[in-house]
Amino acid sequence: MTVDEPAEVMTEPELSELVELLRSLIRIKSVNPPGDEILAARYLEQVLADEGIPSTVVEPFPGRGSVVARVHGEGAPEGGDGGPLLLLSHLDVVPAEPAGWTHDPFGGDLVDGYVWGRGAIDMKSMVAMEVQVMRRLARAARAAGRDPASDPIPGLRRDVIFCSSADEEAGGWQGADWLVNEHPEWLRAAAALNEAGGISTTYGGVRFYPIQVAEKGFVVYKIHVKGRWGHGSVPTPDNAAVLAAQIVTRLAEPGPPRFTEAVAVSVARAIPHLTARAAGSIRALMSSPNGLTVPEPGAIDATLRDLCDPVLARTISAMIHDTVSVGIVSAGVKYNVIPGTAYIEIDCRTLPGTDEPAMRAELQRRIGEDLWSRLEIECEQVGASVSAPLDGALYPILEQVLRDHDSGAVPLPFLAPFATDAKHLARLGVPTYGFSPLKTGRDDGLLQLMHGDNERVSVEALRFGLPVLWDAVTRFCA
Ligand SMILES: [Zn+2]
Repeated sequence: MTVDEPAEVMTEPELSELVELLRSLIRIKSVNPPGDEILAARYLEQVLADEGIPSTVVEPFPGRGSVVARVHGEGAPEGGDGGPLLLLSHLDVVPAEPAGWTHDPFGGDLVDGYVWGRGAIDMKSMVAMEVQVMRRLARAARAAGRDPASDPIPGLRRDVIFCSSADEEAGGWQGADWLVNEHPEWLRAAAALNEAGGISTTYGGVRFYPIQVAEKGFVVYKIHVKGRWGHGSVPTPDNAAVLAAQIVTRLAEPGPPRFTEAVAVSVARAIPHLTARAAGSIRALMSSPNGLTVPEPGAIDATLRDLCDPVLARTISAMIHDTVSVGIVSAGVKYNVIPGTAYIEIDCRTLPGTDEPAMRAELQRRIGEDLWSRLEIECEQVGASVSAPLDGALYPILEQVLRDHDSGAVPLPFLAPFATDAKHLARLGVPTYGFSPLKTGRDDGLLQLMHGDNERVSVEALRFGLPVLWDAVTRFCA
C-alpha cells in the first residue's frame, strides 16, 4: 500500500490484525481510576517497535503512562503548510461492573461478529485504527527500501504524530494536559484527529455521520447555602436544607436554548434528509428573526421528545443549552437539629460563547434574587469550550472520505456536549476534529454503549473505519 493509493478495501489478514490489536488492548485493564495506562503504553511501544517505529513512553505519575511516536514526511514545498497531523487518543477507560455484561468486559471476546469489552467504542477501537495507520505508513516506507524510524514516508508531505495518553476520562490532567505543558513540541500540529465523531447514527433511515468540530466547556461550582441552626421541635424557614431544595428545583429549570455555528450548520444540512414532518417542526422552531435563537425554552425539548428517542433528544438538547446538573447536595448533622448550612455541587456545561461570568449570571437568573442572597458560590473548576474551523484544510476532507466510502453518508458538523482532550490541544492552537469513523448497524445504539454495559464494536464497523481513516490521513498529508 502506498500513501497515494486509496484504500478501497482491507484484506482479511489485515482486518484480523486490527481486530486482534483491539482485543489485546481491551484485555489490558486500564480502568481510570486508577488508570494503570502504563501497561497499555508499553504494549503499544512494542507494537510500534515491531514495525520499526520508535516511540517515547512517559510516566509522569506512577502507573499513568502515555506513548508518543512520529513518522516523517518529505516536508511542504516552499511556503506551503507542512505542519504535522496528530492522531490523538486515550488509553484509559471508565469502570465496568461485570454483573451487567453478557461477556467479560475485559475479556476482549470476539462473538457474533462483535468485539466485546470496555473501550470497544470509547476509545480503544480508534487507538487500534490509529496504530494500524502507523503500521501502514511504516510498511509503505519499508516497501520503498526506507527506514520508517528516520526516513520520510514515500508520498507523505506532513509528519504524522501518534499520541495515546492517560487520564482522559478524569480530565486528562495526568495525560494530555501534562504533555501539552511539558512537551508541547511533541504535539504541536496543523490539525488533530481524536475521538467522538465520525460514527454513523441512523435516523429516519438516513446514515448521519456527526464529525466533532466543537465541544462544550464546563464549570464546576460549590454553592454554600446559609440558613440558621435551630431545634427541630420548632421548624423555621431558615432551614438550609429547605433552602437548598428550593435552589436545586430552580436550577433544574432549563435555560434558554442557543444555536452555535456547528449546530446551526448541522441542522441546515440535515433538514433536506428528514421527513417533511420532522423538517417542518424544526423549521418552525428556528423561525425567529435571526434564525439562530428560539424564543420559547420549553418548545424545543417538546419537539425533540416528539421527533427522537429519549437518549438522542437529551443529547441534542444538551447541544443547544448551557446545562446545569446537580451532583451533590448535603446538609444536616442530626435528625432533630435544623441545619444552618448546606452545600450543593453542580456541573455546568457551557456552549461556545458562554464564559464563566456568563454562566454565573445565568445561575443567578435561575435561582432568583430572594435565594441568591442566601448563598455564596465558589468556582471549583473551569474549562473553556473548544471549536475547530469548518473551512480549514482538514474538515472538508473528512466529509469527502465518508461520502466516498458510504454513498448514503450524510456527514454533519457536531458539537459534543462533553469534553475531551481537545481542550488541552486548544492551548497549543491545534484544531481538533472528533473522527473515529465507524459504520454501525441500525440497532448498535452507540450513545448507550459508550460507558454503558455490553460495550462492543462490530468487525464490519472496523472494516469500514480503517480505510476511511487511512484516506483522511493520507489525503491531508500526501
Ligand atoms: Zn473517550
